[in-house]
Amino acid sequence: MTFQSSTPQASTASQASATSSATSSATTTVPALVTSSAAASFERSTIERRAVGEHDVRIDIAFAGICHSDIHQAREEWGTAIFPMVPGHEIAGIVAEIGSGVTKHRVGDRVGIGCFVDSCRECENCLAGEEQFCLKGNVPTYNGREYTGEETYGGYSTGIVADENYVLSIPEGISLDEAAPLLCAGITTYSPLKHWGAGPGKKVAIVGMGGLGHMGVKIAHALGAEVTVLSQTLSKQDDGLRFGADDYFATSDPATFKANRGRFDLIINTVSADLDLDAYLRMLTLDGSMVFVGLPENIQQFRVFSLTGARRSLAGSNIGGIRETQEMLDFCAEHGLGADVEVIDATMVGEAYDRVVKSDVRYRFVIDTATI
Ligand code: NAP
Ligand code: ZN
Ligand code: ZN
Repeated sequence: MTFQSSTPQASTASQASATSSATSSATTTVPALVTSSAAASFERSTIERRAVGEHDVRIDIAFAGICHSDIHQAREEWGTAIFPMVPGHEIAGIVAEIGSGVTKHRVGDRVGIGCFVDSCRECENCLAGEEQFCLKGNVPTYNGREYTGEETYGGYSTGIVADENYVLSIPEGISLDEAAPLLCAGITTYSPLKHWGAGPGKKVAIVGMGGLGHMGVKIAHALGAEVTVLSQTLSKQDDGLRFGADDYFATSDPATFKANRGRFDLIINTVSADLDLDAYLRMLTLDGSMVFVGLPENIQQFRVFSLTGARRSLAGSNIGGIRETQEMLDFCAEHGLGADVEVIDATMVGEAYDRVVKSDVRYRFVIDTATI
């Protein structure tokens, strides 16, 4: 896939028609929001998507969520990134074309793509459906490379071509804008909630009520757990209770940590910044677990005594595999869950990034890609 600097224009070099077709022979040129360095702003440009291979689907992207991970990567907070970059790994759209060997999706289907678009398919983790932990390293949806060496470009664009096995089906009942964030924020919270047994009789705390956190509250409640939100302030309390929280505390108030000492079986930490981990670990019950999904750029510290005092665990979790992501989408549809979104146009992405960093997001910005 090559990056092109030309004026935005929805041209299809392949003449690809919206019908089931044999493998097309040409690439597609699509508008995209591109950033050229960690300090640069987003600009409208075009990128070229690969020709539709035998097992590929071409998707007309309708919406792309803005995950805090997009910001971390576009600003190189996690280390060196690949530029030019087109972020976006919360992708929802409609299948426009399929390769001759595709069996899982049809033209017109509502589909999504999450954080990776390929994996080795052979290692024990891939075979177990845990492609997010592929031992060869999976192919990130953007800021990565295909196994052929080509750079990958993400969802801040109007179209993408991907292998059918890494494309999810979005069930009827969830609108595409509310579904897009499920492809990262949804699965990133669903997977650890399931893995650590959130359900009836379990006390779960969600730290941070942003994009991930608000989905964590909805999903944990739908799983039957007793849910507490630990947010910096009480400003979003009404929303938290509406999402299904049973309790809500401000972490800016030291009394919160005293009141909840030894209470939770599971704490999911979605915070993108540093925390006083000892204060949070002490809120775990005997054998309780605190799970990091937030990915702050700094090294974190804690006292080992905070674990040994009650056989506690400190753990981490990373998105989810393809099978579990589909399970999550079906679960959300069954329970009437989507993300609470603020749909924005392409000119507002820079401003949206700044608002996310200030925790001023309710609760996910989603780009209407028709405006790119
Ligand atoms: P987000 O919308 O910005 O939410 C993060 C929340 O953390 C904020 O809304 C805020 O909640 C809280 N917060 C922010 N700064 C804080 C601070 N200094 N102290 C205490 N709390 C603070 O971001 P997101 O998209 O949900 O992503 C959250 C983190 O998860 C990011 O680091 C992202 O890269 C990471 N992530 C990881 C995975 C994975 O697979 N592990 C997947 C996706 C994202 P309140 O306002 O409620 O306090
Ligand atoms: Zn993400
Ligand atoms: Zn693998």
